[in-house]
Amino acid sequence: MQAGTGAPADAAARRAVKPVLVYTLDRLPAVDLAGYQAARAGWTKVAETRIEPREAETFDVPAGCFFRIVSIEGPQVGDLNLWAKDDPTEHFYSGKTRALHGTHLTTGARMWSSLPHLRPMATITGDTLAWYGRDEFGGAVHDILGTRCDPYTHKLLSGGEYHHCCHSNLSRALAKRLGLPVTQAEMHVHDVLNVFMCTGTTRDKGQFFMKASPVRPGDHLEFFAEIDLIGAVSACPGGDCGTEHSSDAPRCHPMLVEVYRPAAPPAGWSPPARNAYGRAHGP
Ligand SMILES: [Zn+2]
Repeated sequence: MQAGTGAPADAAARRAVKPVLVYTLDRLPAVDLAGYQAARAGWTKVAETRIEPREAETFDVPAGCFFRIVSIEGPQVGDLNLWAKDDPTEHFYSGKTRALHGTHLTTGARMWSSLPHLRPMATITGDTLAWYGRDEFGGAVHDILGTRCDPYTHKLLSGGEYHHCCHSNLSRALAKRLGLPVTQAEMHVHDVLNVFMCTGTTRDKGQFFMKASPVRPGDHLEFFAEIDLIGAVSACPGGDCGTEHSSDAPRCHPMLVEVYRPAAPPAGWSPPARNAYGRAHGP
């Protein structure tokens, strides 16, 4: 008998099957959060990068240092990309990080790198917006659920040309940092961590939504660099992302990236090796 398009007689029972987590984190290397946080004592600020509204900047963070993305002047969302300094094809892997840590990141989560490398690039060691939790709409901050605003989707949906989407901002910044043509640099731009952005999915259709970020000047998200990194942050043209993006309409603010070098690395810490899978992929 062929299954029809209608619901089967046992539809309710099928829907009632309890979900299981795709990955449990107990087999991942443990994160010694207290050890990381203790390494802040006596640290020195070694670099500061200001990101102007609707622009992006790159910054370098040596393995064993910390960096903070800081809200200044007003509510603003930042789109973060990370690359391994010695090989930009190793970059942040939003999808796998989402599968491991969930749709929104906070203290204790790690940002994993793309295949075949799959190692922690950065560990989140501080989040002043951790208090937000999950709101009545299912919204939470710092998502890896969305991608980055980009001029191709904008063209598709509106027909217009807009050159200050986060994708373009990140492409220009990386092109400058690596000395590449922008069309080549953009091939290294990848799905982001939406720093300070408040997002979720609707209960009925699972559609991606955003709402005004609760971020206030002085808030920050803090990371420990597990490997030598090039980072880039775009101050999204959506501003606090409470109304729209991909236009010059929303009010936007600058952002700051601070890099700190600890007096000594966290006790027992060493940079993680690339993934050990042999890459035979079968016979
Ligand atoms: Zn954006």
